[in-house]
Amino acid sequence: MSDLIYYLPPLLLILIPLLFHLRAKRLASEKHNAVLKEAQESGLTEPPSLHPVVDLSICMGSGACARVCPEHALGVIKGKGVLINPTHCIGHGACAPACPVGAIKLVFGTAKRGMDIPQVNPDFETNIPGIFIAGELGGMGLIRNAIRQGVQAVNSIATRPRGQAELDLVIIGAGPAGIAASLAAKEAGLKYVTVEQEDSLGGTTYHYPRNKLVMTAPMNLPLIGEIKVREVSKEELMEIWTSVLKKAQPNIKFSERMEEVVPGEEFFAIRTNKAKYTAASILLAIGRRGTPRKLGAKGEEQAKVVYRLIEAEQYQGKTVLVVGGGDSALEAALDISNEAETKVTLSYRGKAFDRVKPKNRTRLAEAIANGQIEQLMESTVQEITADKVLLKKGDAVLERDNDAIIVCAGGELPTPMLKKIGVKVETHYGE
Ligand SMILES: Cc1cc2nc3c(=O)[nH]c(=O)nc-3n(C[C@H](O)[C@H](O)[C@H](O)COP(=O)(O)OP(=O)(O)OC[C@H]3O[C@@H](n4cnc5c(N)ncnc54)[C@H](O)[C@@H]3O)c2cc1C
Repeated sequence: MSDLIYYLPPLLLILIPLLFHLRAKRLASEKHNAVLKEAQESGLTEPPSLHPVVDLSICMGSGACARVCPEHALGVIKGKGVLINPTHCIGHGACAPACPVGAIKLVFGTAKRGMDIPQVNPDFETNIPGIFIAGELGGMGLIRNAIRQGVQAVNSIATRPRGQAELDLVIIGAGPAGIAASLAAKEAGLKYVTVEQEDSLGGTTYHYPRNKLVMTAPMNLPLIGEIKVREVSKEELMEIWTSVLKKAQPNIKFSERMEEVVPGEEFFAIRTNKAKYTAASILLAIGRRGTPRKLGAKGEEQAKVVYRLIEAEQYQGKTVLVVGGGDSALEAALDISNEAETKVTLSYRGKAFDRVKPKNRTRLAEAIANGQIEQLMESTVQEITADKVLLKKGDAVLERDNDAIIVCAGGELPTPMLKKIGVKVETHYGE
């Protein structure tokens, strides 16, 4: 008995923290399992780019991978690392070196969904001499990689003769890769133009959620020098891009979309929605998000039609139509409907919202029930005028007042365009 009294305090000192630790692990495991289940039920199981595969025979469940993942894509369930939120993975790759036992391999694609990666040589040139690829389109995500590749690709391009072409280079896309490439082209004294389909710099970064914490590394931009950032908000990053544009004035044409590239004997012919160019080289810095799918409706070219929700606040007091049947459409409609004095209609051509998060489905049902959102299933937009929109539903044509339209109908991915030009693409299945 006296021995027990002697040993009990140190035993409790060990046991109590251990119990707390085990409880915390169990709760974390339950939380991560719930995230995984929700992703599976919503069909959100395929990572978009480079992502981790955990070797379960080696993993010891340290949780280091989950802790370093800025997107909370990884978790630990029953003592093993799991990609619990595959669509949130941005290919950061920080998880692999963080694993103390080397159980993580980074791969492209999965057995179920292959990922197309264009083949490029170490100078970023494709199988077609003169066509180069930089940034996420080449398979490697992240801002710092895109910037580095954009500069390196232009360094290779700068050595190519212009020949009979009017330009040395046409850069397509003004995301991080295209921005860096444009600055490098200007610094190298090339005759070039950059075309960007959107009305702003930044590419994918322009569409990050408000206040998103961006993890990156100091970037070295031609004509600008080193920008010492590691963690910035989306807004600060956009300010950096804007000041780069102001300071270095690269030749970027906004709201101009490349529609066709035709390889010729001596140079390339590039057709955009606004102009035609000939160039000795082309740099495709178009990322992987593709071009937003259009409605094909009369009047769609108006400025009030956009293809992504950026700020819900801007729709305060407006009558808005959201088109689409995925999570992005539902979330856009719900976010806007929470703004003061808005009227929101959600139009979808399908019969049901099949592939959306259960949480969004529930929130939508509530918003419809309390009159915040009007839902028009099996409807399509027919015509858009300055202050109205006409929708076809069955045999009826419905008219709604309208100040703005947000189309969330997915994107046309770049692979078919690459194949059409003749760029060789390899499909990876996570092996
Ligand atoms: C939600 C999210 C969070 C992320 N967070 C981080 C992070 O914290 N840190 C980090 O380093 N990375 C992050 N990333 C990844 C990073 O944003 C991308 O890797 C990077 O933007 C890729 O740059 P890019 O220039 O290759 O392509 P993009 O940024 O995608 O830019 C491509 C540009 O090309 C344009 N374009 C496409 N087609 C055409 C055409 N036909 N004609 C004209 N223009 C065209 C597009 O409009 C776009 O502006 C994140 C990604 C996402 C989706």
